[in-house]
Amino acid sequence: MGNERATRQGGPGHLHPEEAEALIEELRQQASQVEEQAAELEALNDELAAAEARLRGAIDSALDAFVTADAGSIVLDWNHHAETMFGWPASEAVGRNLAELIIPPQYREAHFRGMERFLATGEGPILNRRIEITALRRDGREFPVELTVAPSRWGSNVIFTAFLRDITERKRDEQRLATQYAITRVLAESTTVGEAAPRLLAAVCEGLGYEIGHFWSVQEGADVLRVADRWMAPALDAGEFEASTLTTEMARGTGLPGRVWQSGEPLWVRDLAEDTNFPRLKAAARSGLRSAFAFPVRIGGEFIGVMEFFARQVVEADEGLLAMMTAIGSDIGQFVKRKQAEERLREREELQRFFARVSTMLAAATPDYEATLRHLAHLAVPALADWCTIFTVDEGGSVQRVQIAHADRGREPVAQRLARYPVDPAHPHPVLEVVKTGSPLLLSEITPEMVRDAARDEEHRRLLEELGMRSAMFVPLTARGRTLGAITLVSAESGRCYDEEDLGVAHEFARRAALSLDNARLYAESSEANRVKTDFLATMSHELRTPLNAMIGYTDLLAEGIPERVSEPVMGYVRRIGLSARHLLQLIEEILVFSRLEASRETLVAETVELAELVSEVRAIIEPLAAGKGLRFAIRAPEKPVTLRTDPRKVRQILVNLLGNAVKFTEEGEIEFRAERRDGQVMFQVRDTGIGIAPEHLEKIFDPFWQVRQSTTRVASGTGLGLSVTRRLAALLGGRVEVESTPGEGSVFTVRLPIRARPVKAGDAGAKGEE
Ligand code: ADP
Repeated sequence: MGNERATRQGGPGHLHPEEAEALIEELRQQASQVEEQAAELEALNDELAAAEARLRGAIDSALDAFVTADAGSIVLDWNHHAETMFGWPASEAVGRNLAELIIPPQYREAHFRGMERFLATGEGPILNRRIEITALRRDGREFPVELTVAPSRWGSNVIFTAFLRDITERKRDEQRLATQYAITRVLAESTTVGEAAPRLLAAVCEGLGYEIGHFWSVQEGADVLRVADRWMAPALDAGEFEASTLTTEMARGTGLPGRVWQSGEPLWVRDLAEDTNFPRLKAAARSGLRSAFAFPVRIGGEFIGVMEFFARQVVEADEGLLAMMTAIGSDIGQFVKRKQAEERLREREELQRFFARVSTMLAAATPDYEATLRHLAHLAVPALADWCTIFTVDEGGSVQRVQIAHADRGREPVAQRLARYPVDPAHPHPVLEVVKTGSPLLLSEITPEMVRDAARDEEHRRLLEELGMRSAMFVPLTARGRTLGAITLVSAESGRCYDEEDLGVAHEFARRAALSLDNARLYAESSEANRVKTDFLATMSHELRTPLNAMIGYTDLLAEGIPERVSEPVMGYVRRIGLSARHLLQLIEEILVFSRLEASRETLVAETVELAELVSEVRAIIEPLAAGKGLRFAIRAPEKPVTLRTDPRKVRQILVNLLGNAVKFTEEGEIEFRAERRDGQVMFQVRDTGIGIAPEHLEKIFDPFWQVRQSTTRVASGTGLGLSVTRRLAALLGGRVEVESTPGEGSVFTVRLPIRARPVKAGDAGAKGEE
């Protein structure tokens, strides 16, 4: 440097003028250099200040909070936005520990640990990234922020620079969107209102941070709201509040749901303690609930219910949220309406199927009064009721409980204990009323008081309570103007509540049931009449047979000249008396067989018999009859022997009946009799060329006592029992009889019998004969 040189060469007194001049020149140059440098420095300074001002301006006007802190978390910088965001002015913030200012107490530990770790290792998982954390305001409120922290080294010091952005609104919007999405999903996935409601309440609570949700709906038949569904945060201890909610009915205008019902508007209660119309306040306070909001569920103008939600902290009224909930309320309303319509449709379809089932079952039921009664009770459950009781009225007008069925077979014995309490005319009973008036009765809702009033004693009351009746219908069993009894349909476990529409269905069910019962009654009466007739026939025939046998015996003796020979004209009379007596005996035998069949007393007596043997016996009887009328009689039977195991007397009677008819109803031509073995069966066919049978009579001819009306000039002889007996005998042998005929050309009767007849229950054969 020039200074050094000047010092080395001594003081200015020793300088040569030229030297001095040079030195001055040099100094001048140096001075001007310094000046230049100073100006440069000044310019640099200005630039720096401008840059810093720009930076500060940028930091201060930034919409994010900007904070720097040293390694000890002491705040160095605190911009304007940090002041508003955290509520601390820079003057108070700078110099304090950052953790105490903006980190909620529960996270401070972690913050300090993170710092230590970074200082020791140079690693920090949250550094140089954008993360979301919870921050604390001066007033104690916590809120979500987005944070980026970057460390910068300054010599041996580290400085942390942080940008923080308040994302409360963004978070809230995201949360609402997610809640809305969850609700839409529930509505799309649920198939019933009952399934959707609790899930909707959960979606709102979980999505928006509420603890309890209730869905209040209008109680049917009453002008009050009741909780239909609810949801509660799992960890919450709010038993008392829930109990008080479940037992409360809200009238229009009362409480939170009642007010929403009345106004049709959503409602926000910032602090329940300050609300003057909140009957459940005590219980709510004890469960720590502070804030609530509620909104109406409706479709168009129609109100369906109210949803209410409770939080444990005070939540400021939020118009945006209420607006969103109002929209959701109408979505839910639409869903409820749609599901109700679907449910009604399904119920109607189910009902149609039920009636179809009732009709088929009643038609298929045996025409037995008792069996029909038993059937009825079980038909009604579970389609119409949880349990069903059938009552009958006897001739004296007293009412008997005859059948009880429960949808749950396991509960049947409980219901059957009711039998210990017969219907007593001295005690009012809805069934007595129904039987007296013939009009149905509906008890939509059975209250505990009603049960108490109906009970005869303590035990009866306990039984009625155990049965848990919720709703009941009483319908008369009326047919052909007579009340035969009544049906009680009770809803218990299913919780359904009967209305007028259900009563209509029950009434229709009872109408059909009564008709079927009355048919069974008529059938029983006519069967009884039939039995009396058959018994009479059997007795009469038996009584007639004895004198007839005597007549036949004496004519036979006379014909043989015992005790003495009579003259030829007298002999002629004797023969005719004998013939008529035999004919009469044959008719009586037929009646006896018929009455035995009718009384199911005819049984199968199986023997082993050759087909050829049977055919030749029948030929011996029929050939003379056919010859007598000038008819050809052709027989076609198998050449090889066919052994049958059957009741030969019955087979013979069948064949004689059919062949006898063929001769009787044929004036000219041929009677053909075929017998053959086919597929384990033996087939007999009787073909004639007689008058034939009109198609409309083909089935009737098998009815007992039925005969085709012949022209008045030609009265056919016979009882009209032959074919009826034939068909029943064939059934008894395990076979069947069929007929084909062309009027004017002739008829073909075909009998198929098993080669080996198995004993058939006599009753079955009789019933088959009816077909
Ligand atoms: P019955 O012969 O005693 O009158 P059946 O029960 O044997 O009674 O027959 C009932 C009716 O069926 C007869 O009265 C007759 O009208 C008709 N019928 C039966 N067999 C024949 C036949 N082979 N050809 C025409 N009609 C017949």
